[in-house]
Amino acid sequence: MSRPIVAIVGRPNVGKSTLFNALAGQQISIVKDTPGVTRDRIYADVTWLDMQFTLIDTGGIEPESSDLILSSMRQQAQMAIDTADVIMFITDVRQGLVDADFKVADMLRRSHKPVILVVNKVDNFEKLMPDVYEFYNLGIGDPVPVSAASRLGLGDMLDEVAKYFSKDNTQEEEDDRPKIAVVGKPNVGKSSLVNKLVGEDRVIVSNIAGTTRDAIDTPVKYHGKEYVFIDTAGLRRKSKIKEDLERYSIIRTVAAVERADVVVLLIDATEGVTEQDSKIAGIAHERGKGMIIAVNKWDAIPKNDKTIYKFTDEIREKLAFMPYAELLFISALTGQRLNRLYETIDAVIENHAMRVGTGVLNEILSEAVAMKQPPSDKGKRLRLYYITQVSVKPPTFVIFINSKELTHFSYTRYIENKIREAFGFKGTPLRFIYRERK
Ligand code: GDP
Ligand code: GDP
Repeated sequence: MSRPIVAIVGRPNVGKSTLFNALAGQQISIVKDTPGVTRDRIYADVTWLDMQFTLIDTGGIEPESSDLILSSMRQQAQMAIDTADVIMFITDVRQGLVDADFKVADMLRRSHKPVILVVNKVDNFEKLMPDVYEFYNLGIGDPVPVSAASRLGLGDMLDEVAKYFSKDNTQEEEDDRPKIAVVGKPNVGKSSLVNKLVGEDRVIVSNIAGTTRDAIDTPVKYHGKEYVFIDTAGLRRKSKIKEDLERYSIIRTVAAVERADVVVLLIDATEGVTEQDSKIAGIAHERGKGMIIAVNKWDAIPKNDKTIYKFTDEIREKLAFMPYAELLFISALTGQRLNRLYETIDAVIENHAMRVGTGVLNEILSEAVAMKQPPSDKGKRLRLYYITQVSVKPPTFVIFINSKELTHFSYTRYIENKIREAFGFKGTPLRFIYRERK
């Protein structure tokens, strides 16, 4: 069910941002009430015909000197190899092929990941096609000519990309083990938690933020049931550039969250909720995943009978956009409440995939409407005729109404709360779609 991830890789100035913007267009998904979600276009949700995928731009700070360009391109390529289902390698017909292109192409070929070779700035297909054939020399397949600036060839390019989608998705569906992404800022205890859950030191723990570790899918058995933990701790390459590190950590998080059913967001008890925490929380929220906030290092802070309430208030206030999230206080070091973590994971996974019958939903709707009048405008009142659940992960409801203009988020929230009162749905976001019916 998870959306495929497509990564853009290429030298500076070949047109990566232009292409990214052309594809993301207005579809860029930034949930309005999510504070701290990065406005920098590192990733975007793209819809092409009936397909949806997550586009990531691995290009961060772009260095001037050519030897630095190569090493930064290698990092980008590695990032894409680690996280993407399909890689778009962007080249430039005007600049032609340069040495760095060959080196990166070699790297991509060796990774055996699906690669689409995109030749950009082909503004005039007739005139420039002869120049495009040169790109066969890279040895990574047929070059696909596009002009990102004039939006030429993008449909054909996406068709090529999409050829690789269906295969991947069936693979994922075969694996019905719950997938849990453990996310959080560096040093919050992600590796320690996964280690503790595994019960042996299979994941290397280190004290230094952003040291070289791989993201590993770690299968763990608990009470006879298997879980897969996706650890985002690893940053494949060290980088001295802070912006690059941040970009990589965001890409890693997006990729892990995308594949997960449930996200466990770790917060450091010794630091409280930081800006970076809300950014990471925003990524999970946008993607509609089951959500558990675990305050880690609970062993490391002085406590009295008010501490837990103080923390709860702070989290609910700073992460107010996800009131549905489950909240736990744990210690990866001592193992405190890790059994509770498993119970919560089970419950959230169940709620995230829960279906509610149409009959009972409509009973709740009419009761709710009877108890509190829907909003009205200029003498016209919102009428809610019918509700039905159309999908799961997250649970999504369609409500048939008379006019979209009369809807108000506070009334939607009221309906949501009524549904939650009846069914719980703890730990999962709910989505509501309005459809007009005259
Ligand atoms: P990036 O560094 O790879 O992200 O490249 P940019 O997207 O910033 O583009 C670099 C330059 O190439 C800009 O001046 C763009 O306007 C230009 N450019 C991008 N796409 C095209 C294209 O399809 N045709 C032409 N002629 N110029 C383009
Ligand atoms: P990561 O970067 O998020 O994977 O964090 P690590 O798992 O590498 O942990 C960073 C540091 O925090 C290490 O020194 C851990 O020993 C320490 N740490 C992790 N969890 C806990 C905890 O629950 N309590 C305490 N006191 N220290 C912890």
